[in-house]
Amino acid sequence: MYLSKHMKGQFAHVMKDMHYHDVEIIVITDGSRILGLGDLGSNGVGISIGKTSLYVAGAGIHPMRAIPVVMDCGTNTEKYLTDKNYLGTREKRLADETFYSLMDEFMEGVKEVWPTAVIQFEDFSNNHCFDMLERYQNKYRCFNDDIQGTGAVVAAGFMNAIRISNLPPVQQRVVVFGAGSAAVGVCTNIAKLGARLYNTSVEEVMKIFYLVDTKGLVTTTRGDKLAAHKVPFARTDVTEEQSKTLTDLLSVVKFVKPTALLGLGGVGPVFTEEIVKIAAAATPRPIIFPLSNPTSKSECIPEDAYKWTDGKALIASGSPFPSTTLSDGRVLTPSQGNNLYVFPGIGLGCAMCMPDHIPDELLIAASASLNTLTLPEHLEAGMLYPPLKDIHAISANIATDVILEAMRLGINKAPELPTERAALMEVVKSRQWVPHYPEDIVIEVNE
Ligand code: NAD
Repeated sequence: MYLSKHMKGQFAHVMKDMHYHDVEIIVITDGSRILGLGDLGSNGVGISIGKTSLYVAGAGIHPMRAIPVVMDCGTNTEKYLTDKNYLGTREKRLADETFYSLMDEFMEGVKEVWPTAVIQFEDFSNNHCFDMLERYQNKYRCFNDDIQGTGAVVAAGFMNAIRISNLPPVQQRVVVFGAGSAAVGVCTNIAKLGARLYNTSVEEVMKIFYLVDTKGLVTTTRGDKLAAHKVPFARTDVTEEQSKTLTDLLSVVKFVKPTALLGLGGVGPVFTEEIVKIAAAATPRPIIFPLSNPTSKSECIPEDAYKWTDGKALIASGSPFPSTTLSDGRVLTPSQGNNLYVFPGIGLGCAMCMPDHIPDELLIAASASLNTLTLPEHLEAGMLYPPLKDIHAISANIATDVILEAMRLGINKAPELPTERAALMEVVKSRQWVPHYPEDIVIEVNE
């Protein structure tokens, strides 16, 4: 579905004209910050199509009940503004006031026309994505995959790494390269899940993070006005003098001596041998998560990190990487902290229990659910997530736990759902759409 300012006042009509019923999932982007590719304008619709496809494949959402949407708000990318074949509006991006008036109308339109739908925000730029969550999270059935989905999936894997490392969250020191939407989402979720699993307070776990942005360590003493999303993580225990010297990743790593490194800066191989070895010297099992995508932006190659740490590093990456064979014959496989692990299950669960809004507790329930699905034999092999080939079952489990949490919070709107987990899980599974092909069609699958 394509929407733009030229259709303002008509959004609900456009939705009705599509003649789609019982819509369960809507993925919307404005194309302003697609993966590592930047502002693609309305060409960013590919991300909405990709994510709705993953809802079908990963959670068993019926294809007729999932709609990809692009809200064309213009683009600031010069090559599109001058390309007569560009299909979107060839104008600079809209001012905030117009942007929010379009988004407000969209949110109301969905509520009116498709009251059963869950809305997923995807790849909105940082100047909007946090404010959008604040504006809509308590009013509509919506969530932001880049902030909350990433946070839920990384927190689940991080807690497994902590379990293997035998060092509880409050004893970790975590240097985070990047202080954008993914970094803040990840740290927030780790703090909430860590507090829940280790019976401590969220505030205590928040203290383990050291965020690094383009200016260095994020502190309250470095003399600039911090963006609102960085403020809860700004260090208050670093002097002005120290701040002046902590202006890049290496200096921060030397200062903190981290037990864990999270890479969410999107600039490429910054976790050098020197940096990884400092972490390996600080703890027997360093946690190294190079999470930036695509592969070229990854903070390090897992094979290097395994070799630099003699196979001790606990690794989850954003992109898929092959196994590494060490000189002693051990084969180590990095886990992939892919959002696909959680957002389909969250969407399916919320589409079934239809809460008026999606509070953080439901995201934490999804994260805790994924965390428990990693079996002891996975952990023994150094895996931090269950195998992705089991995504249908993973999504069914996550959806079940999300619904149970909604019931606990008293926001479940589907009173017919069973309250006992095994029975509920059967109902969830029965809702998962699976493609069936006529028997006389032969499908060749190339492995
Ligand atoms: P963002 O633009 O919101 O944040 C990027 C952050 O990195 C900003 O705080 C910026 O200041 C910082 N940064 C950029 N260059 C830097 C430099 N040279 N030195 C220090 N800091 C620098 O982007 P985002 O949405 O948070 O995504 C960041 C990365 O995380 C992307 O590469 C994305 O692919 C990845 N990501 C991975 C997953 C996943 O694996 N599950 C999910 C979401 C995002």
